[in-house]
Amino acid sequence: MFNQYNLDEIRAHARAAFIGMAVGDALGATVEFMTASEISAKYGTFRDIIGGGWLRLKPGQVTDDTEMALCIARAIVKNQAWSREAVADNFAAWLKSRPVDCGDTCRKGIRAYMLHGTLETAPNEWDAGNGAAMRILPAVLFSFPDEELLKKYVIEQAHITHNNQVSDAACLCLGQLLRMTLCGAEKSRLRRHVDGLVSRLPTFNYVPYRGLATGYVVDTMQTVFHWFFRGKSFEECLVGTVNQGADADTTGAICGMLAGAYYGLESIPKRWIKRMDVKVMAEIETVTDLLVAASPFGRGY
Ligand code: MN
Ligand code: MN
Repeated sequence: MFNQYNLDEIRAHARAAFIGMAVGDALGATVEFMTASEISAKYGTFRDIIGGGWLRLKPGQVTDDTEMALCIARAIVKNQAWSREAVADNFAAWLKSRPVDCGDTCRKGIRAYMLHGTLETAPNEWDAGNGAAMRILPAVLFSFPDEELLKKYVIEQAHITHNNQVSDAACLCLGQLLRMTLCGAEKSRLRRHVDGLVSRLPTFNYVPYRGLATGYVVDTMQTVFHWFFRGKSFEECLVGTVNQGADADTTGAICGMLAGAYYGLESIPKRWIKRMDVKVMAEIETVTDLLVAASPFGRGY
């Protein structure tokens, strides 16, 4: 299907995915850990990038979701190859730089690497947080459009911190959705792919939507599926998602990458783009282009 797309189009949608992720992170972070009713009492419908929140962010500042994705992106671009060590080294340097936030499972996995060189944590039924799924985009872009490479990169980056079947299933499904979206798939096709996940693992069923948006990857993905399939624009998808509160920066980041890849750059509200950290946006544009250029697609596979 991707044959019909030229490099410029794929690159534009890849950029929109990465920018969409950062925008969703910066938007949602303000209302992270609030309940949906607390958000509506305070803001009505929350729809602007204003910073603040429990992390006291500057407007447009991103958090660990975007920063960890950039760690992976930089490792690939620097080596022009996939290297778990390079990814883990960047995670370690990032953790030492005292990031504004870091999830517990991510911290535990990165510490294990720093202390013991562990590149794959032991399987753990409790490590089903969304920390591996939130940062998969560079692995998707660098593997594009090869499905086997996609699986390898997505799971290897995940297992540095999260080795869990439910997390793996979410990561693989999201990775495939992103790949298919970059190939130009319509929502009906994407929905059928999610139906496949739900029939294998009914815990991901999101119809009827339960309204939970916690850091448990099942709740996270249900929220993203519900609002991505219901929304008619990038803005609708994102506003619906982050107004659920809870892990709103991460649901926002994941919905943002998917909706960005789907709707494209023009669909991302200018008022949100204008608020974003200029340095982060410039780096995202540069690394996204380099990831696509280094992918099998970019090299003419
Ligand atoms: Mn975060
Ligand atoms: Mn979060």
